Amino acid sequence: MSEQKECPNCGRRFQPVLRTHLLCRVCFHERSRDYDMALAEEAWRSGYRLGFQRGHADGVGNAEPFISLGLLDAAIALCHPDRHPEERFHNANGTTAALLAARKRLREAA
Ligand SMILES: [Zn+2]
Repeated sequence: MSEQKECPNCGRRFQPVLRTHLLCRVCFHERSRDYDMALAEEAWRSGYRLGFQRGHADGVGNAEPFISLGLLDAAIALCHPDRHPEERFHNANGTTAALLAARKRLREAA
């Protein structure tokens, strides 16, 4: 297989099939005017969207939660404002609220 080279017209890196291929495929077809570039652009965008949607669906579906419900329950119990002196109330209360929200999201995702 030949090495990649840079298209002198647009600067894209491309893999020439033959050593005589000087331009990237896009520039070659643009010059020969045998491509409908608007259609090619739309096809690329559609493919990109579809790939993105599939990748996102796969990633979300297979993602491991970053924290377990058990660990969240333990953290909520430890942070609860009732367990802390008055001067730490706001910090404990805010942290507990954030942990409760995270637990809610984790349960909804399960
Ligand atoms: Zn090019």
